Amino acid sequence: MTVLVLGGAGYIGSHAVDRLIEKGYDVAVVDNLITGHRAAVNPKARFYQGDVRDQDFLNNVFDQEDIEGVMHFAAFSIVPESMEKPLKYFDNNTAGMVSLLEVMNKHHVKRIVFSSTAATYGEPKQIPIKETDPQIPTNPYGESKLMMEKIMRWSDKAYGIKFVALRYFNVAGAKPDGSIGEDHHPETHLVPIILQVAAGERKELSIFGDDYPTKDGTNVRDYVQVVDLADAHILALEYLKAGHDSDAFNLGSSTGFSNKEMLEAARKVTGKEIPAKMAPRRAGDPSTLIAASDKARKVLNWQPQYDNVEDIIRTAWNWKQSHPEGYADRGANA
Ligand code: UDP
Repeated sequence: MTVLVLGGAGYIGSHAVDRLIEKGYDVAVVDNLITGHRAAVNPKARFYQGDVRDQDFLNNVFDQEDIEGVMHFAAFSIVPESMEKPLKYFDNNTAGMVSLLEVMNKHHVKRIVFSSTAATYGEPKQIPIKETDPQIPTNPYGESKLMMEKIMRWSDKAYGIKFVALRYFNVAGAKPDGSIGEDHHPETHLVPIILQVAAGERKELSIFGDDYPTKDGTNVRDYVQVVDLADAHILALEYLKAGHDSDAFNLGSSTGFSNKEMLEAARKVTGKEIPAKMAPRRAGDPSTLIAASDKARKVLNWQPQYDNVEDIIRTAWNWKQSHPEGYADRGANA
């Protein structure tokens, strides 16, 4: 039996593929390579290039593979871009989920582990955020993912397709050996941008907003190491295979770090000055996002190995130093 990973050439998906293979699973990957990298996919996985919305393509993959469960990472995920191009997000992310569930139903595949996000909560009512808290997204990216969660819920009722929605907080880092890592074009995420400045590729970091109601005025986020995150997906798949019901889990460290603290941590890890300036707020950013993640620890038995941001940043720095150009396939996939 095979685990099908959609979006397996992306940042988080490629780490999940790698961990699945390390743990002895048979893996097939689907990716349209719009933002993913072919070189990020572990060579032991079978690779199909195509789009989740292309049902002929997807039916063909499901015909060829004997799939025990699906991990669905294939989505656009840039908050500011989603503010400018909401329909791109509803088309790719939300309509992509409809297409995928139709194909799963047709082929009697009944398990899906899904990349959801803290962005489904919007501006939190309380910190830390619990899974049962209201979900009122403040940007189309979060809305597209919330819609995907709801679509899965109704598909469970109608077709018995069981799901686990994993609501990630901020993901960072890379496989510790530096062989795979984060490579977005353009890069918008805090940790890789800080490291681009450390590496001399960017002049300075712009910190978006210092007038938030937080300890130092900058946004506070909860960082999880990408390999820990990948492992949570495998636990979620096993949870579904054990016959448990559909559910949603936060994945975070339960500790918040401000953007200024992240900068300081990166200065310490890299030994570089990392120039930074204050800049206006970025549209769609909630002030503070910290997860209550005891549910995943208790129910899925998730035991993240990384519990401090310096160690997380160190793995990202290791990747950055060994791959200054990322996967160096910019021309093909940008
Ligand atoms: N951020 C920043 N400068 C940058 C990129 C990000 O100040 O060049 C801030 C951003 O406003 C947010 C935090 O870093 O407060 C994390 O942003 P990121 O895009 O990495 O993840 P998100 O929280 O949007 O998922």
